[in-house]
Amino acid sequence: MSEGILVAVSGFSGAGKGTLMKELLKKYDQYALSISATTRQPRPGERDGVEYFFKTSEEFRKMIAEEAFIEYARYVDNYYGTPRSYVEEQLAAGKDVILEIEIQGALEVKRKRPDTLLLFVTPPSAGELERRLVGRGTETMEVIQSRLSRAVEESKGMGGYDYIVINDVLEDCVEQMHQIICSQRQSASHQ
Ligand code: 5GP
Repeated sequence: MSEGILVAVSGFSGAGKGTLMKELLKKYDQYALSISATTRQPRPGERDGVEYFFKTSEEFRKMIAEEAFIEYARYVDNYYGTPRSYVEEQLAAGKDVILEIEIQGALEVKRKRPDTLLLFVTPPSAGELERRLVGRGTETMEVIQSRLSRAVEESKGMGGYDYIVINDVLEDCVEQMHQIICSQRQSASHQ
């Protein structure tokens, strides 16, 4: 079986990436989702080892020193990183591995592995982005403001991405992402 491809999916906080990824994984079994490590506190309902591996700053620093991450980045006061071992294992097993990571991390992965596919997910409008962030009800207004400011900053880096996908109708967006990934995998296997 051929090796899978690495796909980094980024997008504004509140663009609906989490739901998109869940649907993609439910519908197709060719994908594996990498679980990141983070120093952020769990949100209500989040479990260690499911949404994230929740780490103290000290544990996170130790992982950096051991080169356990493919990439890591700071995002609004917390650190997030992609553990290397799971990704490499799944790629070797032929899975396409999805990293749901922010822009600095995605660009770092692309630098290290130029064959990585970078997808940027955006909601249909800025108003919709704000509505989704507030509607989620898991963050304070202060954190929402920081995340919206970060969205403006992140939009400057969108040019480095291979594709920008608009998440308006969920099922259409899932299908579009799947098609993009499949054609990239096909062209990678012909190189
Ligand atoms: P949240 O706190 O909303 O779960 O995630 C905040 C941001 O961190 C999101 O843009 C998410 O995609 C990103 N993120 C999650 N895991 C990682 C990671 O391992 N590396 C990097 N660079 N970003 C991550």
